[in-house]
Amino acid sequence: MDQVTGRGLIPWPEAVVAAMTLRSLPGVHSDVPIGWAPAALAVVAGHLANRPGSVIFISKDGGGFSTTFAAGTLVDAEAEVYPHPGSWYGGEIAMHSCELCARPGRRHRVPDGVFCDSCVILTSGDEPDFAPRLPLAPDVEDAYRTLPPIRSLVTVPAGWAPLVRSVLKRLGDGSGADLVFADEGDHLVVVSAPDAADRIAAVNRTLVTLTRERCRYCGRPVEESSFSPGACDGCLAVQARGWETTTEWRERQS
Ligand SMILES: [Zn+2]
Ligand SMILES: [Zn+2]
Repeated sequence: MDQVTGRGLIPWPEAVVAAMTLRSLPGVHSDVPIGWAPAALAVVAGHLANRPGSVIFISKDGGGFSTTFAAGTLVDAEAEVYPHPGSWYGGEIAMHSCELCARPGRRHRVPDGVFCDSCVILTSGDEPDFAPRLPLAPDVEDAYRTLPPIRSLVTVPAGWAPLVRSVLKRLGDGSGADLVFADEGDHLVVVSAPDAADRIAAVNRTLVTLTRERCRYCGRPVEESSFSPGACDGCLAVQARGWETTTEWRERQS
């Protein structure tokens, strides 16, 4: 049993309800983290519909999900498959759900587990300097982490970091020291580039289009039909649901 202490975002209500439902179901023994309760409930509901009266043990097992079924009466003999597809499906949900809060997350090694980008920082004792989002893709994270400071932007939108990096190379020496950007919300433009003034217009034509097509929060492509250029529906959905933080440090058992 590994233990992680620290703060996190307050779990989504459906995770709280799923955890309470799991506790109230006869024959079901679950000790998954609260953020994985919706995934565990999906597995349990699928199995109980197929085999009522089952005894089900469901727990976190390393970075994954372990489920044991016993007893119960098979309702439809022709429908039986083992392992039940529900357990595979539940594992897939868990691998993309923050253990602490149920928001979209990804697997981390330190601390070991699946966390959203906000909770992984909160558990370390720091405060995130960004709104909740879908987890950054590894290449976006690398580009953001290694980007030099851009004086004209208080914060570079993490999802646009790879695009900013390529502009730094096209219009300067890569340091970004003399480049001035303007963050227009749904896109980014270069306002001035002392050594490459003649190329700004051409670079901006590409930059405006590409930033509109990428989510400023997570770097994923924005659907062509989206009403929110520069921001993906997933990040906007996560942000619309609030991000209160637990007030006290707590102990998470897994
Ligand atoms: Zn979280
Ligand atoms: Zn996004």
